[in-house]
Amino acid sequence: MIPAAKPIIGDDEREAVDRVLRSGMLAQGPEVKAFEDEFSPFVGNRHCIAVNSGTSALHMAFVAAGIRQGDEVIVPSFSFAATANSVKLAGATPVFADVEADYFNLDPKSVEAAITPRTRAIMPVHLYGHPAAMHELQAICQRHNLVLFEDAAQAHLAELDGTPVGAFGAAASFSFYPTKNMTSGEGGMVTTGCDHIARQVRLLRNQGMERRYENEVIGFNTRMTDLHAAIGRVQLQKIEGWTKTRQQNAKFLSDNLKGVVTPPVAAGATHVYHQYTIRVVDHNRDAFAEELTKRGVGNGVYYPTPIHRLPSFGLTLDLPVTEQVAQQCLSLPVHPSLSQSDLETIVSTVNSVAQAGS
Ligand SMILES: *Cc1c(COP(=O)(O)O)cnc(C)c1O
Repeated sequence: MIPAAKPIIGDDEREAVDRVLRSGMLAQGPEVKAFEDEFSPFVGNRHCIAVNSGTSALHMAFVAAGIRQGDEVIVPSFSFAATANSVKLAGATPVFADVEADYFNLDPKSVEAAITPRTRAIMPVHLYGHPAAMHELQAICQRHNLVLFEDAAQAHLAELDGTPVGAFGAAASFSFYPTKNMTSGEGGMVTTGCDHIARQVRLLRNQGMERRYENEVIGFNTRMTDLHAAIGRVQLQKIEGWTKTRQQNAKFLSDNLKGVVTPPVAAGATHVYHQYTIRVVDHNRDAFAEELTKRGVGNGVYYPTPIHRLPSFGLTLDLPVTEQVAQQCLSLPVHPSLSQSDLETIVSTVNSVAQAGS
């Protein structure tokens, strides 16, 4: 079986964890600080604040920027639930806009149509590692005086016209969950160019304290541990190489797959292929996926149910492209551990299932 995803953990990650264990300082400390400093060049030298998950990073960014009850934040429904959960957890209301079918990202026209007097912010997701239409969304934010956030959980090192994701919005959030392009075990990072947001996130993750027992605001404990940061630092040294391999794997798939819609890349965009997601249009997607699994090609459907229709939100909305892509999308293995023979197997299997009809 060719796995759909595969975290890569080597001897240097193990040695880094061992070094921290031997130091006896396990909680947030020098490793976290170093991880933040080392991540910053990848996001245009912005402030970086490490936290315990991507979800916490999203949540802390909203609270730090003053998003609160009564505010609306426009987000895609075609994403992982954490995108909208984090808006709710900050006390605000997620308003779901539609996506476009090429890159699966927020459609600026649908975003503009969703703006109300209560709208405070827009948060695109750089889904599967393809940057969202940031120039158009920035222009909408300027016209309507809104704050731009980024859910960059899947998009480490993705770029648009030379600007890295994580450097567009007032704040952005990355995830280091094991299946993401790099991992710290669990973890997240807030990136921001705003001194105020940076300081607030630092306070919020640590009970509202900068100096011990001088709590300034009501805070959380969303600190990253030095054990996790040590893993993240090692992975950060490898992420550029892994990203190149993902891009080469994706190119081979796109050059050779037939009978399915392969993922295009927008002009000026650097896709980092967290997922390589095709659209199955001439077959039943679920039957197609099952057949691939039967023939040993791992795959995944991200996401079968749009967030607004999950029981946790339970909304009925008219988001036709979201509904369409949720039925058609299918992610194939693209991770850096694939061999040339794996890639050839993926191509021949997908092409044969596509040809067979179902
Ligand atoms: C993974 C992910 C998150 C949440 O990150 P965690 O580290 O798992 O909390 C948020 N948004 C998107 C789009 C994700 O893929």
